[in-house]
Amino acid sequence: MSHSSYQSARSFPSKCYCGIPPKIETSWTSTNLGRRFVACKFYDAMSGRRGCKFFDWIDEEIVEWHRVITNQLVLEKKLMRAEIGNLKQEVCLLQDQKARLVAQNEKLSKKLRCTSMDGCSPAKTGCNAVIFYAAIAMLIIVVAKLLVA
Ligand SMILES: [Zn+2]
Repeated sequence: MSHSSYQSARSFPSKCYCGIPPKIETSWTSTNLGRRFVACKFYDAMSGRRGCKFFDWIDEEIVEWHRVITNQLVLEKKLMRAEIGNLKQEVCLLQDQKARLVAQNEKLSKKLRCTSMDGCSPAKTGCNAVIFYAAIAMLIIVVAKLLVA
Protein backbone atom coordinates (compact mmCIF):
# COMPACT_ATOMS: atom_id res chain seq x y z
CA MET A 1 0.00 0.00 0.00
CA SER A 2 1.55 3.31 -1.08
CA HIS A 3 1.39 6.47 0.99
CA SER A 4 -0.80 8.30 -1.52
CA SER A 5 -3.46 5.55 -1.52
CA TYR A 6 -3.42 5.62 2.28
CA GLN A 7 -4.28 9.31 2.24
CA SER A 8 -7.02 9.10 -0.39
CA ALA A 9 -9.55 7.76 2.08
CA ARG A 10 -13.29 7.68 1.72
CA SER A 11 -15.09 10.92 2.46
CA PHE A 12 -17.15 11.14 5.64
CA PRO A 13 -19.63 13.62 7.12
CA SER A 14 -18.05 16.68 8.71
CA LYS A 15 -20.36 16.44 11.73
CA CYS A 16 -21.64 13.63 13.94
CA TYR A 17 -25.22 13.40 15.25
CA CYS A 18 -24.26 15.78 18.05
CA GLY A 19 -23.50 18.42 15.41
CA ILE A 20 -19.78 18.54 16.15
CA PRO A 21 -16.82 17.45 13.98
CA PRO A 22 -16.03 13.75 14.49
CA LYS A 23 -12.56 12.52 15.33
CA ILE A 24 -10.34 10.16 13.35
CA GLU A 25 -9.12 7.11 15.24
CA THR A 26 -7.09 4.02 14.43
CA SER A 27 -8.36 0.59 15.37
CA TRP A 28 -5.98 -1.71 17.24
CA THR A 29 -8.18 -4.80 17.36
CA SER A 30 -6.74 -7.93 15.70
CA THR A 31 -9.51 -7.94 13.09
CA ASN A 32 -9.06 -4.29 12.06
CA LEU A 33 -5.48 -3.60 13.01
CA GLY A 34 -4.37 -0.15 11.84
CA ARG A 35 -7.69 0.55 10.06
CA ARG A 36 -8.83 4.12 10.53
CA PHE A 37 -12.35 5.20 11.33
CA VAL A 38 -14.33 8.31 12.24
CA ALA A 39 -16.38 8.42 15.38
CA CYS A 40 -18.16 10.84 17.67
CA LYS A 41 -15.74 13.00 19.63
CA PHE A 42 -17.12 11.34 22.75
CA TYR A 43 -16.14 7.88 21.51
CA ASP A 44 -13.75 6.21 23.94
CA ALA A 45 -12.24 2.85 23.03
CA MET A 46 -11.05 2.21 26.58
CA SER A 47 -14.42 2.57 28.29
CA GLY A 48 -16.47 1.48 25.26
CA ARG A 49 -18.43 4.73 25.32
CA ARG A 50 -19.67 5.62 21.86
CA GLY A 51 -21.15 9.10 22.22
CA CYS A 52 -23.89 9.56 19.61
CA LYS A 53 -23.14 6.22 17.90
CA PHE A 54 -21.81 7.95 14.80
CA PHE A 55 -19.22 5.61 13.31
CA ASP A 56 -17.74 5.04 9.87
CA TRP A 57 -14.64 3.31 8.54
CA ILE A 58 -12.25 5.51 6.57
CA ASP A 59 -9.98 2.76 5.27
CA GLU A 60 -11.15 -0.21 3.23
CA GLU A 61 -11.69 -3.52 4.98
CA ILE A 62 -8.42 -5.32 5.58
CA VAL A 63 -7.85 -8.33 3.30
CA GLU A 64 -7.11 -11.63 5.03
CA TRP A 65 -3.40 -11.95 4.13
CA HIS A 66 -2.86 -8.37 5.23
CA ARG A 67 -4.61 -9.02 8.52
CA VAL A 68 -2.53 -12.15 9.17
CA ILE A 69 0.78 -10.49 8.36
CA THR A 70 0.01 -7.33 10.34
CA ASN A 71 -0.95 -9.34 13.43
CA GLN A 72 2.19 -11.40 12.99
CA LEU A 73 4.33 -8.24 12.83
CA VAL A 74 2.67 -6.78 15.91
CA LEU A 75 3.31 -10.03 17.80
CA GLU A 76 6.93 -10.09 16.65
CA LYS A 77 7.34 -6.49 17.78
CA LYS A 78 6.00 -7.38 21.23
CA LEU A 79 8.38 -10.34 21.48
CA MET A 80 11.30 -8.18 20.37
CA ARG A 81 10.43 -5.56 22.96
CA ALA A 82 10.43 -8.23 25.65
CA GLU A 83 13.75 -9.56 24.37
CA ILE A 84 15.25 -6.05 24.37
CA GLY A 85 14.11 -5.66 27.98
CA ASN A 86 15.80 -8.94 28.92
CA LEU A 87 18.98 -8.00 27.08
CA LYS A 88 19.09 -4.59 28.77
CA GLN A 89 18.80 -6.30 32.13
CA GLU A 90 21.58 -8.70 31.16
CA VAL A 91 23.81 -5.80 30.07
CA CYS A 92 23.20 -4.17 33.46
CA LEU A 93 24.21 -7.34 35.30
CA LEU A 94 27.31 -7.75 33.12
CA GLN A 95 28.34 -4.13 33.66
CA ASP A 96 27.99 -4.66 37.39
CA GLN A 97 30.03 -7.84 37.20
CA LYS A 98 32.67 -6.08 35.09
CA ALA A 99 33.00 -3.27 37.64
CA ARG A 100 33.53 -5.81 40.38
CA LEU A 101 36.13 -7.69 38.30
CA VAL A 102 37.98 -4.46 37.45
CA ALA A 103 38.17 -3.59 41.16
CA GLN A 104 39.35 -7.10 41.99
CA ASN A 105 41.93 -6.96 39.18
CA GLU A 106 43.26 -3.65 40.50
CA LYS A 107 43.62 -5.13 43.98
CA LEU A 108 45.44 -8.19 42.64
CA SER A 109 47.71 -6.10 40.40
CA LYS A 110 48.77 -4.00 43.39
CA LYS A 111 49.55 -7.15 45.35
CA LEU A 112 51.52 -8.57 42.41
CA ARG A 113 53.54 -5.34 41.96
CA CYS A 114 54.57 -5.49 45.61
CA THR A 115 55.74 -9.11 45.47
CA SER A 116 57.70 -8.57 42.23
CA MET A 117 59.58 -5.58 43.76
CA ASP A 118 59.24 -3.34 40.69
CA GLY A 119 57.03 -0.33 41.22
CA CYS A 120 56.57 -1.13 44.85
CA SER A 121 56.06 1.81 47.11
CA PRO A 122 58.35 1.74 50.18
CA ALA A 123 55.47 2.80 52.39
CA LYS A 124 53.86 -0.61 51.98
CA THR A 125 54.92 -2.86 54.84
CA GLY A 126 55.14 -6.01 52.75
CA CYS A 127 57.56 -4.35 50.34
CA ASN A 128 59.98 -2.99 52.93
CA ALA A 129 61.58 -6.39 53.40
CA VAL A 130 62.26 -6.69 49.67
CA ILE A 131 63.93 -3.28 49.60
CA PHE A 132 65.90 -4.13 52.74
CA TYR A 133 67.28 -7.35 51.19
CA ALA A 134 68.11 -5.55 47.95
CA ALA A 135 70.05 -2.91 49.91
CA ILE A 136 71.98 -5.63 51.80
CA ALA A 137 72.82 -7.36 48.52
CA MET A 138 74.16 -4.05 47.13
CA LEU A 139 76.19 -3.52 50.29
CA ILE A 140 77.68 -7.01 50.03
CA ILE A 141 78.68 -6.34 46.42
CA VAL A 142 80.28 -3.02 47.35
CA VAL A 143 82.18 -4.61 50.28
CA ALA A 144 83.31 -7.52 48.08
CA LYS A 145 84.58 -5.09 45.43
CA LEU A 146 86.48 -3.14 48.10
CA LEU A 147 88.05 -6.34 49.45
CA VAL A 148 89.20 -7.41 46.00
CA ALA A 149 90.69 -3.97 45.28
ZN1 LIG B 1 -21.56 12.74 18.49
